[in-house]
Amino acid sequence: MNAPAKQTIKGETGDWEIVIGMEVHAQVTSKSKLFSGASTEFGAEPNSQVSFVDAGLPGMLPVINEKCVEQAVRTGLGLKAQINLRSLFDRKNYFYPDLPQGYQISQFKDPIVGEGEVMLDLKDGSTIKVGIERLHLEQDAGKSLHDQSPDSSYVDLNRSGIALMEIVTKPHMRTSEEAAAFLKKLRAIVRYLGTCDGNMDEGSMRADVNVSVCRVGGYDKFRADGSFKHLGTRCEIKNVNSMRFVAMAVEYEARRQVEILEGGGTIKQETRLFDSKLNETRSMRSKEEAHDYRYFPDPDLLPLVLEEAWVESIRKSLPELPDEKRARFVAAGLSPYDASVLVAERELADYYEALAKGVDAKAAANWLNNEVLGRLNRDGLSITDVPVSAAANNAIVAMIADNTISGKIAKDLLDIIWTEGGDPRALVESRGLRQVTDTGAIDAAIEAVIAANPDKVEEVKAKPKLAAWFVGQVMKQTGGKANPGAVNAALKKRLNLPEEG
Ligand code: ADP
Ligand code: MG
Repeated sequence: MNAPAKQTIKGETGDWEIVIGMEVHAQVTSKSKLFSGASTEFGAEPNSQVSFVDAGLPGMLPVINEKCVEQAVRTGLGLKAQINLRSLFDRKNYFYPDLPQGYQISQFKDPIVGEGEVMLDLKDGSTIKVGIERLHLEQDAGKSLHDQSPDSSYVDLNRSGIALMEIVTKPHMRTSEEAAAFLKKLRAIVRYLGTCDGNMDEGSMRADVNVSVCRVGGYDKFRADGSFKHLGTRCEIKNVNSMRFVAMAVEYEARRQVEILEGGGTIKQETRLFDSKLNETRSMRSKEEAHDYRYFPDPDLLPLVLEEAWVESIRKSLPELPDEKRARFVAAGLSPYDASVLVAERELADYYEALAKGVDAKAAANWLNNEVLGRLNRDGLSITDVPVSAAANNAIVAMIADNTISGKIAKDLLDIIWTEGGDPRALVESRGLRQVTDTGAIDAAIEAVIAANPDKVEEVKAKPKLAAWFVGQVMKQTGGKANPGAVNAALKKRLNLPEEG
């Protein structure tokens, strides 16, 4: 069965479809670098975290950092991928001022992690599987600084030698939404695993986005027989550093390619840059100018051999990942969409779980979405700065459920704690916020409203819709503390209104 074509682009000569594959560089969370003991801390004084190995001094020998290997394996397991017990480090040779060795130590033919998969939950409720081709370990380069002086460039080697994981997908994405969702999901997975902080502003995660277009149907043929001949020629857009820019780059690039093809031209395979200010991609280098890296096994490093038992011990230590958490939330009663929003950030998921303890799952999710996230949004805060604990919100939701307080009072109570702090149960008592279910008190409030509005009493007989106005007045009279259901029932009886309506 062929999947329906996605996000097609209409041309004069027919429709085109988009195919996308990504290569993501994720900085490994580790205290020291891949082959040296120098610190990886972000934001230090330039060139203050550089060992002789990182500076490429002659005769220095790299020593593999076990923690980085463990992080790569952990990530591979999180991607449900094949872990290769034997992998090789190769030298990728090129000259760059911020690459003092003259080569980058990377993995080419034999990476540490092979094929895996990432599931994407899309806005329309569908789920797609994106194949992972491989994950390999490599060194990061230093940084050239061109904006420090009008007549010189400087080099900062603090980043030189930090471990990166390059995660390569199969060309399994077909819309800008899917490409952005992939990066988001991958970021969530590595953050759950604790293998990369996912901080895109600091460059801890950056994506190279490969885009091609082909005639509608080409992708299905590719999936059927695996042959790339059914796909168009791709262009690679380098170093895109946000989900939004990934989506924008895909949209722009696909349109650019269709325009060329529609005009009778051909796509030349090349590397392009995305300019987020102009919202366009432009050529950086063509295939003809592409480097020949002369990969060869690094003679300073032995093959990396892992023990099965060690890999298994890492597997056993994996946390619950977003997909499993989402499934558990759905089983507890949340909609798939609500569940996927909650699991997108581990902190949010943890907060939700504490909030939902012992109360209705759906009520807890609604309270979190509407009240807590609404206030965070208003105040420009994120879930990690929330001023009211999950336990306090849990108590509020529990008090709504057992009719201790009304929904309206609950919101007021949250506002009080949000700005002044305090314990929700103690505040309900000290401020007299308990819901009034006592019919005597409700009846008294009703009599007071009737006495003050004799004309309205006549009107409501003809216009039963006015009953809502009475409910509002009685609620006001009780300071919002009356149980609205009880008020409604008592009013209908007192005013002789029909039950329904
Ligand atoms: P290279 O080694 O030249 O970078 P790869 O075969 O490793 O090439 O592919 C790099 C990335 O490009 C992968 O993410 C892959 O999925 C993607 N890709 C390959 N062919 C296409 C295509 N025709 N359209 C879109 N993406 C593609
Ligand atoms: Mg590549």
